[in-house]
Amino acid sequence: MSRPILRISRGQFRENIAAVQRRITPSVLMLVMKDDAYGHGLGWAVEEAAEAGVSWFGGYDVPTALRIRRALSVGERVFAWATSTDGEIAEALMHEVDLGIGTAEYLRRVIARARALGRRARVHLKIDSGLRRNGVLPADWDAFVAEARTAEDEGALEIVGVWSHLSEASDAEDDASQEVFLAAVDAVRRAGGAPELLHLTASAASWWRPELRGSISRIGAFCYGIRSADGPELDGIRPIAALTAPVVGIDGEDAIVGIGSFDGLPSSLSGVEVGTPVGPRLLRVIGQTTSVVAGWSGMQRGEQVTVFGPGEQGEQSATALAERIGTVGEEILTRLTPRVRRVIV
Ligand SMILES: *Cc1c(COP(=O)(O)O)cnc(C)c1O
Repeated sequence: MSRPILRISRGQFRENIAAVQRRITPSVLMLVMKDDAYGHGLGWAVEEAAEAGVSWFGGYDVPTALRIRRALSVGERVFAWATSTDGEIAEALMHEVDLGIGTAEYLRRVIARARALGRRARVHLKIDSGLRRNGVLPADWDAFVAEARTAEDEGALEIVGVWSHLSEASDAEDDASQEVFLAAVDAVRRAGGAPELLHLTASAASWWRPELRGSISRIGAFCYGIRSADGPELDGIRPIAALTAPVVGIDGEDAIVGIGSFDGLPSSLSGVEVGTPVGPRLLRVIGQTTSVVAGWSGMQRGEQVTVFGPGEQGEQSATALAERIGTVGEEILTRLTPRVRRVIV
């Protein structure tokens, strides 16, 4: 095989999930699985997480939520928060997918679909707590809540949650967002609602800012072992995936390795160190389907080079590579193309 492989560890995934759960308890983990489980592949990850006792799954859009739902038994909850088409809303209602609602227009469409189908939608109302990226502005919140409450009294929906998303840009901004969030929860209660599920935080804030956690924490990155860019290492969390490629040729002092930009490797990563059988070596040049790595004595075709991973061959993490080119670890993983074979071990 001359092609690269993303080798993914079920065991490490479980260990990360357990470390996250220990850290955030009594807040409950919602495992976020957008972008095909951050490039790791959705199907195996849903099954593994459900076996590990994860009870909440976040799918971003309804098609992803339905893929998650199909892999689960009835007990678990699936949440989709992208504004969706009427057809998708209907599918979500038929398959017990909870919906995140961030605009009055979307709320009305969900109510209309629920009435048409004779179903009660489970909704989580979203306040815009400062991010300005989907969510109802505080000035419009009371009117929005009043509409939702009327529909709730008529049996078209159930307000099960209130949520928002943080910028994680600074503690002060996140504190201010939490105030807006808690005021929004109070407003729902004053209007006669009884939302049980409150969620505000993703990986970094859930881990580092316990006082911001709600009853649920929506976490993707840390469960896959992707730490924050420019953030510290995390106790008990390691990357679950290693990207390896074989030596396919030898050119003087250099090893030619079977991976390149066609596999989704950003060519700006040339100059980083990658793992080899003798430890870290310079990745000199990234071509389209092959790359040049500074060689080692006795190197052989077929030996494996690790571009990123947990460090077993001296390689760096995806986040450490991302930091070199001003992005985040998630981006390195989700850019990998289908040319890279996913192997779950
Ligand atoms: C992606 C996402 C998350 C998870 O973020 P991580 O930093 O990967 O944990 C949580 N909530 C929302 C709304 C998201 O889009």
